[in-house]
Amino acid sequence: MQNTKPHAALLASPGMGHLIPIVELGKRLVTYHGFHVTIFVVATDVSATQSLLRQQCPNLNIIKLPLVDIPGLIDSTATIVTKLAVMMRETLPSLRSAILALKSPPTALIVDVFGTEAFAVAEELNMLKYVFDTSNAWFLAITIYVPTIDKNVEDKHIIQKQPLRIPGCKSVRFDDTLEAYLDRNDQTYIEYKRIGIEMPMADGILVNTWEDLEPSTLGALRDSQMLGRVAKVPVYPIGPLSRPVGPSVTRNQVLNWLDMQRNESVIYVSFGSGGTLSSDQMTELAWGLELSKQRFVWVVRPPIDNDASGTFFNLEDGSQEAQSFLPKGFLARTSEVGLVIPMWAPQVEILAHPSVGGFLSHCGWNSTLESITNGVPMIAWPLYAEQKMNATLLTEELGVAVQPKTSASECVVARAEIEMMVRRIMEDEDGFEIRKTAKELKYSGEKALSSKGGSSYNSLSQIANDCELSLLFRKAKAQGS
Ligand code: UDP
Repeated sequence: MQNTKPHAALLASPGMGHLIPIVELGKRLVTYHGFHVTIFVVATDVSATQSLLRQQCPNLNIIKLPLVDIPGLIDSTATIVTKLAVMMRETLPSLRSAILALKSPPTALIVDVFGTEAFAVAEELNMLKYVFDTSNAWFLAITIYVPTIDKNVEDKHIIQKQPLRIPGCKSVRFDDTLEAYLDRNDQTYIEYKRIGIEMPMADGILVNTWEDLEPSTLGALRDSQMLGRVAKVPVYPIGPLSRPVGPSVTRNQVLNWLDMQRNESVIYVSFGSGGTLSSDQMTELAWGLELSKQRFVWVVRPPIDNDASGTFFNLEDGSQEAQSFLPKGFLARTSEVGLVIPMWAPQVEILAHPSVGGFLSHCGWNSTLESITNGVPMIAWPLYAEQKMNATLLTEELGVAVQPKTSASECVVARAEIEMMVRRIMEDEDGFEIRKTAKELKYSGEKALSSKGGSSYNSLSQIANDCELSLLFRKAKAQGS
């Protein structure tokens, strides 16, 4: 590899939600900004990641780092956040060796939020360092703000359950707050706060949103009288980065079925890579879909009681037949109108299909962006992590979703409410505005990414310029010595 173009090393922590936007960022750096990119992936061995790791793109190289063994380092009840934080910490020695083994030394290291401890490696190896928040600006705001508040303010939010006021941003209701902040004796809390402290130590913070989607939060993050004081470094909105539709040859059963349905007549139901429902909720959801009399595609996983993120690390574990956990006769009664897909479906292709008119989603940020970029309105069904904040953003700020009156993560949402929400999003008169707004937002995202002056394109260009300058500086130094 000639040392003429900037070379960026990207680090993705486990989980499709991190891997997908990191890969898309890598592809954009190569395609639009002339970079060489090496992506280091700490991937669990779930089959869904394999196709991503086989990406064919000139000047983009994907290297799998060995999976680290952490059970001895955490207790069996550790949360996803703790597991990811410990995994990424243990990966640092192999990341360092892998960077040193590259033929051309990278100019910059870009990590997702679980990789901020790798900044030490970037500093040692004289690289620029960036963090890519693969979620939205509001989540970025709370993540970097909480470590700076005093205990009194924190107590008001966590103990007295008052909304957390964040300068210049929408306040975060206690019911929406990050689970990580709820138990201050848990390692999750310590790891999250550490991440919030480390993010502003980067040379810049990238975030998977765009100017027109979150203008006031982005404004506050840049305003030194508000959150800019905390962010300290430039914040670059570079989204919406989401996986594009795959080649048309990958037609399969679900897409063929969708081809036969009317435009915007099908609701797609899925809870991301990790989401699982309780048995009771599964029953209510099945009944709600059936009673709504709408067509549906539902990605089903065996129910797990008391673990809403049950398949985050073990997506493979689901050989049970759907009829064993869905209501008796459901599959036969709905066979004309619905399709049940076990475990995993080609989500992007489904959401881009003209027959799909709604998405019942757990509101993971990738799923959210995939829905928005296809103009599909949503039923927001948050389960864990920052998903409740995302749901509030979608319903109250952006107006592209409805959500149950009581949170699906607190109690079982009953079939009648599900039936009503599905009808509202798909066909009722009072869902018209939501459907219209969802379509408008699609174009706003496309505009931001346009290489003809789109705001997100320009943001990434600034990072590219900084990397080019750094490369020139490095070369001049090498020639001078
Ligand atoms: N996904 C998919 N098929 C599925 C479930 C999920 O392709 O059956 C993809 C989805 O398109 C999204 C990612 O997995 O890109 C999930 O990321 P998200 O941030 O929505 O949620 P997470 O899995 O991180 O909770």
